[in-house]
Amino acid sequence: MLKRADEGILDIPKAAGYLDIPEKRLEDLIERRLLVPNKGKYQQLFHFETSVSSIERGSVLYQKGNGKFELIHGFPKIRRAMLLEPAIKKHFINTEILCVEEKMNGYNVRVILFQDKLIALTRGGNVCPYSTEKVNLLLNIDFFRDHPDYVLHGEMVGPENPYVPKDIYGIKSLAFFVFDIRKKNTGKPIPTSRRRQLAEKYGFFQVPLLGEYKIEEATEAIFKHIKELGKIGHEGVVIKDPDMIIPPIKYTCSQSNCSDLLHAFKFYNDVGRDYLFSRVVREGFQSAEWKESEEERRARCLRLGESILNPMIETVLKVQKNEKIFDDVLIRVKNLETLEEFEDYSRMLGLEAIFSKPKKVGDEYLVSIHKINRSTSDKTKAMWNGDLW
Ligand code: ATP
Ligand code: MG
Repeated sequence: MLKRADEGILDIPKAAGYLDIPEKRLEDLIERRLLVPNKGKYQQLFHFETSVSSIERGSVLYQKGNGKFELIHGFPKIRRAMLLEPAIKKHFINTEILCVEEKMNGYNVRVILFQDKLIALTRGGNVCPYSTEKVNLLLNIDFFRDHPDYVLHGEMVGPENPYVPKDIYGIKSLAFFVFDIRKKNTGKPIPTSRRRQLAEKYGFFQVPLLGEYKIEEATEAIFKHIKELGKIGHEGVVIKDPDMIIPPIKYTCSQSNCSDLLHAFKFYNDVGRDYLFSRVVREGFQSAEWKESEEERRARCLRLGESILNPMIETVLKVQKNEKIFDDVLIRVKNLETLEEFEDYSRMLGLEAIFSKPKKVGDEYLVSIHKINRSTSDKTKAMWNGDLW
């Protein structure tokens, strides 16, 4: 048994047996903090900071009261189609029908029942206190009691969102949209139709099903959806094998790419270069596959160029006027304890942010979070002071 002050508890020999890895390897993972217990009241929950054999990063391991282990697999990466037609052909072998769903733009959470309450795990495998409060308010707990071996996967979407605030879905605060149900321990997904049935039965919101298409007709149908979704600022689609045996792939709208860039280039020195570069490359592939006219191509160039340069120019000018470069987000909590936990959690993740005083509205509190993007501010300031890049 491993015990440390304020750290997790795990029966090493048993856990190693359950995971089918040598004890020494497990000890080493804990020692090197690649298998990390959550803080505070969730210290039985360990998350993987790296992938270990077939267990992906973000997976969560814990030992229940009866000594049995549970593994909540990390949500697998969804690969992207750059050229849709060839990608569909090559990826979906022996599939006749494809299920096309909207890809909603928020953040990914996995929900399970833990000690009589729901908890929301982020992509990395942490328990997010804000999302945890929300899922307990939003989701019917009966689903989890009736199906203890299922993990509910969904996108948290809406404007009062500390990670990806979006006001494009007509949601007042934050909502949870189911896109997957998977088995604990194996991570195996259930077929899309069964998932929709279950989600419907328990009254959950679900990501929109845009259509089911014969594979030969899918590309053209998806391009139509993409153009429509782009016009209303939505993100794109996820294309799925209805049986969920072949992994899904994603494809997104140019406008959503550009809106990511518009936000990212405001903080050009805080955002990873891969994030920026990959979005530029997508535009080239999409334009080529769509055989765009000169006029359409020019419109795309303008859209892309504006979304890169405009926010950057604004940033450089703001810093010249001694203004700081920041991002403001709004959250809404029922309990002040959640707020306190979320502040600690944000600090633990290394986020530099100032939380406003909570403002009481009805039986809730509104809090604005001022996220500081120091690297961009400092770099820009240095340039104005004559430093060289
Ligand atoms: P990755 O590609 O590794 O999943 P990412 O965080 O960059 O990583 P995105 O580009 O946002 O991911 O695309 C995948 C994510 O899309 C999923 O993790 C999920 O949170 C979200 N998503 C939204 N709608 C759906 C949907 N209908 N089906 C599956 N995932 C969806
Ligand atoms: Mg996303």
